[in-house]
Amino acid sequence: MLDLHTHHKRCGHAYGDLEDYVQEAILRGLPILGVTDHSPYFYSHENHPYKQLAMSITEFDVYMEEAVRLKRTYQGQIEVLIGVESDIFKEHIQLYGEMYAKYPIDYVIGSIHFVSPSGIMESLDFNTASEEQKQQEVLRYVEIMKAGIDSGWVQIIGHMDGFKRGYPAFTGLLAPYVDELLKRMAARGVALEINTSGMQHACKEWYPSFDVIERARFYSVPVTFGSDAHHPDRLTTDWEKVRDTLMLVGYRQVVYFRQRKPFLMDL
Ligand SMILES: [Zn+2]
Ligand SMILES: [Zn+2]
Repeated sequence: MLDLHTHHKRCGHAYGDLEDYVQEAILRGLPILGVTDHSPYFYSHENHPYKQLAMSITEFDVYMEEAVRLKRTYQGQIEVLIGVESDIFKEHIQLYGEMYAKYPIDYVIGSIHFVSPSGIMESLDFNTASEEQKQQEVLRYVEIMKAGIDSGWVQIIGHMDGFKRGYPAFTGLLAPYVDELLKRMAARGVALEINTSGMQHACKEWYPSFDVIERARFYSVPVTFGSDAHHPDRLTTDWEKVRDTLMLVGYRQVVYFRQRKPFLMDL
């Protein structure tokens, strides 16, 4: 059992200190916990834009130092992997890669929360958008994901079909692009995250959907697990179900990363 996707209060919308998650993970018997709070907006001229979405740029140093300290403190009880859930912005791929190269990061989860820096807080409303607008938005999303997969600094693609979050009807919107994306991930050794947080939202599904997990197996894409917990109580949510599902489609191992190198854990 492991959990590679967790947040804490630094991002402004999660609960608990980093250490609360580590202690909860020890209580639950996890051998490995990944800490992956949201990346700051590194490209911004302001130190802390969007205070409810992510930590400030200067806080990133403090986050890294605290994670390193916890890794050492709890060594022997649990392995704390140091990560970040990073936005992928096509315009800033290089900048983000350069930032992460400066830190002792075990892995980066690359996620798309917004299709452009200028689109933050004003995402397309899929309920009222025209068919053409939706297609364009998904195409942008796919292009950004490709750039992330090719970036060299993304180890895991986070909530691959996350745009379905509030829109159950759009579960299949990624379908025409899934094979191409998965093949690209397999070729680059970029892992697919099974993220169980979607069950809390209107889509009532994991990210990605079951059919994508099956396709990922077909293309031998490495997989891993993340609860995307924003509260310590949510750690490892649905792990057993995810494990059974992965076994069902033929997976026998999940992947994790130390210093950006892949290691396997038996299911
Ligand atoms: Zn969050
Ligand atoms: Zn996310």
